[in-house]
Amino acid sequence: MKVVIVGGGPAGLMAAIESAKTNNDVIVFEKMESLGKKLRITGKGRCNITSSLPISDFIANVPCNGKFLYSAFQNFTNEDIINLLKDEGVDIKQERGNRIFPVSDKAEDVLNALLRKCKKAGVILKTKHKVNEILEENGQVTRSNSRRPSK
Ligand SMILES: Cc1cc2nc3c(=O)[nH]c(=O)nc-3n(C[C@H](O)[C@H](O)[C@H](O)COP(=O)(O)OP(=O)(O)OC[C@H]3O[C@@H](n4cnc5c(N)ncnc54)[C@H](O)[C@@H]3O)c2cc1C
Repeated sequence: MKVVIVGGGPAGLMAAIESAKTNNDVIVFEKMESLGKKLRITGKGRCNITSSLPISDFIANVPCNGKFLYSAFQNFTNEDIINLLKDEGVDIKQERGNRIFPVSDKAEDVLNALLRKCKKAGVILKTKHKVNEILEENGQVTRSNSRRPSK
C-alpha cells in the first residue's frame, strides 16, 4: 500500500517507521526545510524522551480522559521508545523525577536516530513540501496535493 504521512515531526516519523514495517511504500511530506524542528528544541535542547513511571501513572497524569490513551500506551510503551533509541546507539539516562534523557543531552541525537530508522526502513523523506489538500474519490484517498513553497 502507498502511505503518505503529512508532517515530519516525531509523530510522523514514528508513524512512518511503523508503517514501513508492513512493507508499505511510505513517504513523509514536511513543509519546513528540515525534519523534526520542534523536536530539536524539546527539553531545552536535551529532549525529555519519556518517564520511567508505570503506564498507570502516565494515564493518571493526563488532564482529562486519560483512559482513552490506554491502548496506545499499552501498544507502544516507554520501554519501547527507550529500546528503539538504544538500538540506534542512543545511550539513555534517568534524572530526578523519573525523567529519561539521552546521555549526550542532545535532542538532535534522538531526531537523528528516528531519521536513521526511517532511512533503513526505506521511508522517503521530502522536506519543503507542504500538503495543501488530500483528494479523495468514493471514500478512497486518490492523491495528496503537495508542493514546494514558492520563494
Ligand atoms: C519548548 C518545547 C519543549 C518541549 N519539550 C518536550 C520534551 O522535553 N519532551 C516531550 O516529550 N515533549 C516536549 N515538547 C512537546 C513536543 O515538542 C511535541 O509533543 C511534539 O513535537 C509533537 O510531535 P508531532 O510530530 O505531533 O508535532 P510537531 O513536532 O509539531 O511536528 C509536526 C510537523 O508537521 C509539519 N506540518 C504541519 N502541517 C503540514 C503540512 N500541511 N504539510 C507538510 N508538513 C506539515 C510541521 O512543519 C512539523 O514539522 C516540547 C514542546 C515545546 C514547544
